Amino acid sequence: MKFKKANNNKNNNDSHSRSLVKNIALILLLFFVMASVFSLFEDPNAKKVEDITLTELAVRISEEKVKEIVIEGDNLDIELKDGVKERSLKEKDTSLPETLRNLGVSEEKINKVNISVKRESEFSKLMGSLLPFLIPLLFLGLILWMMLGQAQKANVSAMSFGRSTARLLKPGEKKRRTTFKDVAGVKEAKEELEEIIDFLKNPKKFTDMGARVPRGVLLLGPPGCGKTLLAKAVAGEADVPFFNVSGSEFVEMFVGVGASRVRDLFKNAKKNAPSILFIDEIDAVGRHRGTGMGGGHDEREQTLNQILVEMDGFDTTTNVIVMAATNRPDVLDPALLRPGRFDRRIVLDNPDIGDREAILNIHIKSKPMAKNADIRRVAERTPGFSGADLANLVNEAAIKATRDGKKVVSQEDILASIEKVMLGPERKSHILSEKEKKIAAYHEAGHALVGHILPHCDPVQKVSIISRGKAAGYTLSLPIEDKHLHSRSEFVDDLAMFLGGYAAEKMVFNDLTTGASNDLERAAKLAHQLVTKFGMSEKLGPITFGNRTETIFLGKEFHEQRYSEKVAAEIDVEIEKFITDACQTAEKVLTENRGKLDKIAEALIKKETIEREEFEKLMG
Ligand code: ADP
Ligand code: MG
Ligand code: ZN
Repeated sequence: MKFKKANNNKNNNDSHSRSLVKNIALILLLFFVMASVFSLFEDPNAKKVEDITLTELAVRISEEKVKEIVIEGDNLDIELKDGVKERSLKEKDTSLPETLRNLGVSEEKINKVNISVKRESEFSKLMGSLLPFLIPLLFLGLILWMMLGQAQKANVSAMSFGRSTARLLKPGEKKRRTTFKDVAGVKEAKEELEEIIDFLKNPKKFTDMGARVPRGVLLLGPPGCGKTLLAKAVAGEADVPFFNVSGSEFVEMFVGVGASRVRDLFKNAKKNAPSILFIDEIDAVGRHRGTGMGGGHDEREQTLNQILVEMDGFDTTTNVIVMAATNRPDVLDPALLRPGRFDRRIVLDNPDIGDREAILNIHIKSKPMAKNADIRRVAERTPGFSGADLANLVNEAAIKATRDGKKVVSQEDILASIEKVMLGPERKSHILSEKEKKIAAYHEAGHALVGHILPHCDPVQKVSIISRGKAAGYTLSLPIEDKHLHSRSEFVDDLAMFLGGYAAEKMVFNDLTTGASNDLERAAKLAHQLVTKFGMSEKLGPITFGNRTETIFLGKEFHEQRYSEKVAAEIDVEIEKFITDACQTAEKVLTENRGKLDKIAEALIKKETIEREEFEKLMG
């Protein structure tokens, strides 16, 4: 897709520096011209005439070789009898004959030379006295002139500051255009947007029915689920001017710029109606006003106010649709969400297995794939991946294939890249000692065994003691199908699995290592959620205790953490109960299946990585 910058600040800067270079070149050129002009004044026939000293002149006169001397200022032009011309300088305040006499030339000889005085030329006299003043003056003038020019340009860019920086995609720009075909899944969102596009194309059809054209469409969804992509696809489909701007572009160093840019943007959009105006990442400006926390930001508030004003300012006939995208709908100002503004809300979700397959298929299109590539299987292995993760996955696989010198991307490349995307790159260089290897093996075996035995855990896909990213080893267990609901028994079993590594270390080595700290953290977080968010504690019952972790940053929710000290203590007790129960479950499973635990650990020490099939064979 080709965007044209309506007003390009960067370009301005470019031309700035370009003209500076031009100025300097100009000055250098002037310098050269001036220098050559001076050298011209200085000695017009320098090459032909030789300089001699006064003493030499005196000798020549004594030898009666000199025919004529012309005095011009202090210059002496000498002509010898044999026609040769020479040059010399006389002393400043004495006359030439006197000088010659002092040098011992006899009166008689001097009289024989034809001495004449020529008037100095007016021009060279004038130049001689003026130039010393003129040069610095000229120089100063030049510098001043340059500085003025710069200041003027700075002024101009300050004036264009308030203009919107939106990029405009004109209809008819067909090249590299994104369409709905490039967006997989998100079926409902596409349907909804198609309706909007229809509005833009045939507004009359709807207004005849008395329907009001929707004003704003808000795309909501987690990062990387394709909001920006979808908006671009709408631009490609609608075939109307599409203004694209990011929320952060409103915010500048100077207060008031954002509001002015909003005004400019809406003015442009209205001028080009029917048109679409897309504000990406609107949470950058659309936050709750007046919470005062997280740095009260006047500029942001003004910008938001201006957006609200502009959206109200559309009359019913204006055919401009405002789209916006955010992954933080919870922080948006309620005023943005009321009818007449962003009244259409389209929720995008991370893709399910079918959508993942479709997204993968879109992204492998441009890459040579091996015949054995089984995209369905990849989709099965990637629950929770966003569209962006999947795009990244395919790219990583292509990079890996290239690095390995292959011609096509194979299934193994993709599968190997899944873990890289999830956990970071393998750290094969990170060599464990025998002892550490044994501990890591038992730790991971503990996770895997508990996960295998407990009925509500997801099946184990892979166990490895090769460190990846921050993890020293990892046990991958993935659901067979996507899950949208999670039950209490699943959570309880998951908790036990988190603690399986800890319990195994304690049981086998009767000691603990730092390797379990991440597991403990995750367990504590999950237990906390069970009690305070999901209402899954028996004692406290179905109450949530508002405590969102981002609270302080957002300000508003900060005050929602309101429960008494007594309840806080009860929550702690309940969390502890979940954890100790889970720990006991894990220990029980491991003691009862000690033989299997040893088997897995041994296999891990030997092979470092066990895949699902092998693991299941081991378990019988
Ligand atoms: P966000 O929701 O954060 O704006 P983007 O729209 O920028 O996410 O998506 C990032 C990238 O992920 C896209 O450029 C695209 O390559 C890929 N992607 C995301 N969702 C999809 C999808 N539904 N179909 C195809 N590609 C997708
Ligand atoms: Mg985006
Ligand atoms: Zn662990």
